[in-house]
Amino acid sequence: MEAARRGAGGPADVKLDIVTIFPAMVKGPIAEGIVGRAIERGLLDVHVHDLRDFTTDRHRVVDDVPFGGGPGMVLKAEPLFAAVEHIRAARRREAEATETAQPRRSLSEGGTTVILTSPDGERLTDAVARRLSGLEHLVVLCGRYEGVDERVRTALATETLSIGDYVLSGGELPALVIVDAVARFVPGVVGDEQSVARDTFARGLLDYPQYTRPAEFRGMSVPAVLLSGHHAEIEKWRRREALRRTLDRRPELLNDAALDAGDQALLQELLNQEGDLS
Ligand code: SAH
Repeated sequence: MEAARRGAGGPADVKLDIVTIFPAMVKGPIAEGIVGRAIERGLLDVHVHDLRDFTTDRHRVVDDVPFGGGPGMVLKAEPLFAAVEHIRAARRREAEATETAQPRRSLSEGGTTVILTSPDGERLTDAVARRLSGLEHLVVLCGRYEGVDERVRTALATETLSIGDYVLSGGELPALVIVDAVARFVPGVVGDEQSVARDTFARGLLDYPQYTRPAEFRGMSVPAVLLSGHHAEIEKWRRREALRRTLDRRPELLNDAALDAGDQALLQELLNQEGDLS
């Protein structure tokens, strides 16, 4: 994994290629916000490819009827295989070109991870996004219609990812979700590394409540401790509220959370309070 990490100033830390029949649907969102800035700063290198560019027929057909009958259309295997082969070769050439200047870098054999988006895939979680952020090159394939020819899954994709138990009309939104979640773990992408470390899930707990000015709004005031300037008290309050939220909304997360003795005491306090209420 170490070889996959690059120092700042070198070529992008993570290379991503997205293959879709709707490139405009992907290009707009990645140009904005934190991901857009990461691309501008060269921390991420994202290319969006039109699947139709990898067809060989005059009508640029990417789909066909399912064998065996049934409703809808299926994305054909050939253009998807051609797209991934083209992308792999292009990224390899690029890596070789930079290698002369930067001997540390190379796109290793098998260094490309090909992700098929699919509702029946492995669920995208904080841990999966973190793992993907350490890989050197990700290709995300966006399905459409009834899905993609099964041979893409068995012989081209190296993993299959779902963003949740619902069916979307295409893999473009899942691809954007994957890019955003992965980007946040690339060092330097989120300005304040602390903020990633504190996010919901990062420490196995949900995030604590946040407030900003004004301190008084429509009769609702901000918890006094946050205005106190007392850092230790503020930290303790935040930790307690994160524990409270997790206990209320996602108690199962507490089984795997890294809790120290202080946390255990706070948790016991919260459980006692709940006991008092019932
Ligand atoms: N018939 C398929 C659904 C196809 S939806 C089934 O029942 O499983 C069309 C495409 O949208 C899929 O190929 C996939 O790329 C994408 N997609 C839809 N829902 C998704 C989800 N929850 N996670 C990831 N990709 C999804």
